[in-house]
Amino acid sequence: MKTTSDQNLEKKSPLAHESAHQAGFQFDYDDAPESTSIVQLKEKYDLFVDGKFTPSKSKETLDSINPATGEVLAKISVAGDEDVDKAVESANKAFQKSWGQITPSERSRYLFRIARMIQERAREFAVLETLDNGKPIKETRDVDIPLVAAHFFYYAGWADKLDYLVPGRKVKPIGVAAQVIPWNFPLLMAAWKIAPALAAGNTVVIKPAETTSLSLLLLAEVIQDSGLPPGVVNIVTGAGATGAALVSHKDVQKVAFTGSTEVGKKISQAVIGQNKKLTLELGGKSAHLIFEDAAIDQAIEGVVSGIYFNQGHVCCAGSRLLVEESILDTFVNKLKKRIDQIRVGNPLDKNTDMGAINSEAEYNKIKNIVETSRKEGLEYFESHKQDIPEKGFFLKPCFFKGVSNSHLIMRKEIFGPVLGISTFRTPQEAIQKANDTHYGLAAGLWSEKASKIQKVSGELKAGVIWANTYNKFDPASPFGGYFESGMGREGGLHGLLAYVEVQ
Ligand code: NAD
Repeated sequence: MKTTSDQNLEKKSPLAHESAHQAGFQFDYDDAPESTSIVQLKEKYDLFVDGKFTPSKSKETLDSINPATGEVLAKISVAGDEDVDKAVESANKAFQKSWGQITPSERSRYLFRIARMIQERAREFAVLETLDNGKPIKETRDVDIPLVAAHFFYYAGWADKLDYLVPGRKVKPIGVAAQVIPWNFPLLMAAWKIAPALAAGNTVVIKPAETTSLSLLLLAEVIQDSGLPPGVVNIVTGAGATGAALVSHKDVQKVAFTGSTEVGKKISQAVIGQNKKLTLELGGKSAHLIFEDAAIDQAIEGVVSGIYFNQGHVCCAGSRLLVEESILDTFVNKLKKRIDQIRVGNPLDKNTDMGAINSEAEYNKIKNIVETSRKEGLEYFESHKQDIPEKGFFLKPCFFKGVSNSHLIMRKEIFGPVLGISTFRTPQEAIQKANDTHYGLAAGLWSEKASKIQKVSGELKAGVIWANTYNKFDPASPFGGYFESGMGREGGLHGLLAYVEVQ
């Protein structure tokens, strides 16, 4: 894309543009903000129970903040124990009386309808998600919302084919599913959970993260408009106490949680002995392994998009970079240049690469880890770009070099645009370092040699391994981790198996 300054230079002299680039001048893009007029924010959002927006009995509210400006977008209701009871009761009734009674092909039709309606309102969803979460509009528009629709389409296709899910065996739904999700992909995490649950014939009570409830509450409108029977999907908003009441509710038969390992452990303890099916999608500290025969520019793009373009707010963010020693200097020099080009700023601007950190608490957490690591004396680099907004929660992309696996930066999930770089000399050392973590969510392999990729990937303990690419998702492909990254898989037929009893 040519900027106005590029075009002005070209007008002056056809060679001026080229020589200006050679001279190292920086060019920037003009502002290209997406309009927010498509989004109609309410002052206050109620719970969604039994097909209706319902005020919470607790009367408590939380503020949902725009992290790019710090302004309050809306007030969100906090569901107390009584509200959770009502939501579970409504889901139970729908399971017994409506959703549990209709044919699989009818279920399929509802899910197809919801998928199409999400597509029709895609722009509205994308703008709202960006406002509430802080991630760039190009990500919500091109990744989150299309994948949300794709998950509903994919599982709509499965609803009337469950007889083929486990060859030779019958499957049946479990009952009421309690689902608790995080803030990093608010609507996508909801789709990962609601679509397979409904396709398999279950009903749902879902709780979004307290900082990002708005897109799911907009989905409630779609659900109403689709004619889905009341109570099939219920939404209770609130913080940890609401989630805790939901997952341990006696009439819930299945618990699906995505979030931090810390909360995942609490939930496991809370539901143990309650005869509930449980899946946990938790944190990560995923590694890129860059071999000397890799296509370096391609690997740089994979690393940058995997840790910076989404502010590092991805569970599988490639936050540990293991580079073969012989190419370390070349790689690091290229990476330094590349992070200087990353545009940090207004998430609603279509040219923004990195938006705002989702909340003040996350922002402070990331800053603290960076400060602590700097005090450890590690080599630190950050983008030289000066124009990051002062208002809102913005950070510059950065990395630490010369780190070892024992450093905090290589062990703790940071969930921010912070990378730790270490080296290896042999594939065996790379595997050993990559596996030296409590987590096991994802890994990225970068090599031109297919045989090396095959061999190394077979020895990595990571649920998802990408080769010469990163962070690519497909509804047909299962996702999940080893060790402290969780148990069970979402996506694909594995994701559906988590919502059925096999007879
Ligand atoms: P979090 O664990 O703080 O919160 C997640 C959800 O749990 C929120 O809705 C929260 O209100 C709720 N919650 C908090 N305490 C609870 C309790 N005691 N009982 C029940 N619910 C409770 O996580 P977060 O900060 O929102 O999200 C970031 C985390 O999510 C990261 O660790 C990231 O790796 C993980 N994540 C994992 C995946 C995956 O697929 N593995 C995907 C996305 C995010």
